[in-house]
Amino acid sequence: MMKKLVVITGASSGFGMALAKLFNQDGYPLLLLARRVERLEALNLSNTICRKVDVTDREAFQKAIDDAEQQYGETDLLINSAGVMLLGDIETQNPDEWQKMLDVNVMGVLNGMRAVMPQMKKRQGGTIMNVDSLAGIEPFEHHAVYCASKYAVMGLSETARQQMAPYNVRVMRILPGAVNTELLSHTTSDQIKNDYVAGNKAAGMGTITADDIAKSIKFAYELPQGVNLREIQIADTKQVL
Ligand code: NDP
Repeated sequence: MMKKLVVITGASSGFGMALAKLFNQDGYPLLLLARRVERLEALNLSNTICRKVDVTDREAFQKAIDDAEQQYGETDLLINSAGVMLLGDIETQNPDEWQKMLDVNVMGVLNGMRAVMPQMKKRQGGTIMNVDSLAGIEPFEHHAVYCASKYAVMGLSETARQQMAPYNVRVMRILPGAVNTELLSHTTSDQIKNDYVAGNKAAGMGTITADDIAKSIKFAYELPQGVNLREIQIADTKQVL
């Protein structure tokens, strides 16, 4: 029997790309979303629809999901992995960067949830996995607005989890620590970027990869629908905070 549709945002890089490869290997039909659609297409995956969607564009996000569902049936798993981390300090950072993080990391997640929740509620099944962060439960230096965006993911996810529980719909969060992806590269301050890399190196970190995150998400999803691994904290063993 054909497996059910998995929708992955931010599939052009990092965790999202690792997820796309892993779920594809196991035969899941996929809808992959990102702005750099050519990167999605270059993966050349079977049973996969690739769409150029900015997750802050609610209509385009919904349309891409509706189109994929026409082909593969209703979404059984939505993984909200698209995100940006623009490190900086409140008093010096360009407020446009605050806006960007809140738009992508919070509004983007809400847009995705809104696009799939009604059908999941109706058919009493389905899973939403929001990629949160350890920065969603602890403060870190230069992370003020990134933390704000990731703390928000906990509030909105846990509220939705409670609301969807009677309908047998799972809302999960994964909270990774630092993993080497493109995420840090978009921060504008070279000083902050260099210090971040140097700090992790000094601690001996660097073992954990995007594949470890992808495997953990797949494990949680493949537990029975009646079991909700609500929150996964995962970090390099040598990460202290
Ligand atoms: P990457 O930078 O490698 O990937 C981010 C992905 O998000 C890209 O595919 C990018 O695609 C997509 N994206 C960014 N903005 C938008 C947008 N407006 N619309 C659609 N897609 C967008 O980072 P990671 O894979 O590391 O990060 C994935 C998630 O994990 C993020 O939510 C991040 O906050 C979280 N996280 C990461 C940690 C880490 O250390 N790496 C730790 C904890 C959490 P494109 O640019 O093509 O649109």
